[in-house]
Amino acid sequence: MLDSILESLHVVALPTKTNFRSVLVREVALFEGPEGWGEFSPFLEYDADECVPWLASAIESVTVAPPSLNRDVIKINATLPAINGREKIEQVLSWFPGCRVAKIKVGEDFNQDLTRIKLAQEIIPGLEVRLDVNGQWTTRQALQYLGDIYSQVSNIQYVEQPCATLEELRELKKSLEVPILIAGDEVIRKARDPFSLDLEGAVDIVMLKVAPLGGIKRSLALAKFHGLPVVVSSALDSAVGISRGLLLAGALPEISYACGLGTGALLEADVSDLAITHGDIQIVSVKPSIQALKKYGATKDRVEWWKARIRQTWLAGAERGEW
Ligand SMILES: [Mg+2]
Repeated sequence: MLDSILESLHVVALPTKTNFRSVLVREVALFEGPEGWGEFSPFLEYDADECVPWLASAIESVTVAPPSLNRDVIKINATLPAINGREKIEQVLSWFPGCRVAKIKVGEDFNQDLTRIKLAQEIIPGLEVRLDVNGQWTTRQALQYLGDIYSQVSNIQYVEQPCATLEELRELKKSLEVPILIAGDEVIRKARDPFSLDLEGAVDIVMLKVAPLGGIKRSLALAKFHGLPVVVSSALDSAVGISRGLLLAGALPEISYACGLGTGALLEADVSDLAITHGDIQIVSVKPSIQALKKYGATKDRVEWWKARIRQTWLAGAERGEW
């Protein structure tokens, strides 16, 4: 397996339109197998252990037939990075045509966060919002900030990972006096074993991200195991990675929230086309274009770096399916 991954490997460096997660160029490793293409694109700072499920997911993508689908069109949410200023916000929202829900990054500066949320709802009247804090608030801050936001903002779908740990989320949920749902993201996808977590009383919604959870099959099993409403999302993947999220969203028995699979709109260039139309993306099989692989091909030393990373990840557990 390892040899065939390395043989068909392409690494692309895709320019981003905006500074999302401080990433200006998104490097993505792509390889091909009997069932199609797979994407291996953990963020650069992740160590080999954390990369194991990402590689397992890419291997599933090239070796396992796609799941059977319950729907073939997926509702998408806009993703608004922590940017400020009406013009910039308006510009980013325009990249998500027809989306009626926006996930808004918050957590750095509360006043700027509140302004960002209000501006987004001014630009798109009736816009539903989800706030992604990436675990940056203490329980105390979360209680105060969510109270403040609730009194000034309407149409709040949920807040994603307001605090870092499961214990803090549980404490928050116990004391929270405003009716805002809590979604768990990092607490699930960065857990050693997401099947061992007791989410009861801590989160209301489970974020499902195919690559960090080790693939579609495992994500479906996790959704079933926890039995909570889910939101399918991505991590600034190329169209190859996004297509896996779309398949997961298509295969889930039930889906009540728009999916965070429109992040391709934050890339200046992609390896294939997955357009958002009227707030939806159609599930199609994705194959990177040869021109794009060439045009955005990473430098030789970056390709070597990714090959070494794949070897390390393979040895760290992907080889034995240990993750
Ligand atoms: Mg998140």
